[in-house]
Formats: sequence, C-alpha cells, structure tokens
Amino acid sequence: MSVYRCPVCDYRYDDVKGAPREGFPAGTPWSAIPDDWCCPDCGVREKVDFEPVESRQGR
Ligand SMILES: [Zn+2]
Repeated sequence: MSVYRCPVCDYRYDDVKGAPREGFPAGTPWSAIPDDWCCPDCGVREKVDFEPVESRQGR
C-alpha cells in the first residue's frame, strides 16, 4: 500500500481506501489516478505535487 499527501492541506490519498467521493474506489493504485487530478480538499495542487508518505514506523 502507499499513501500520498498534499503539501498544501495535508489531504492524504491511501490506495487501500481509495477516494470514493472522487470516483476512485478502494484499491485504486496511485498510478491509476490521472495526472491532472486536483486535490479534493484545497483544489490548488495536482497529483504531480503530492508527496509519498513513508508508511513504515520508526522514521
Ligand atoms: Zn490539498
């Protein structure tokens, strides 16, 4: 699994949960998200601006 966060508002996309309200069902991999998809919370950052979140503990 992987999680990506918006650098502006800290919205997180978790590919296990998906983003049903955005039309991406649970399990949708990050690679399947369109590059021009905008952050649903702030709307000012696109997919390419998102940063991967380290999901392991101890860092
Ligand atoms: Zn955002």
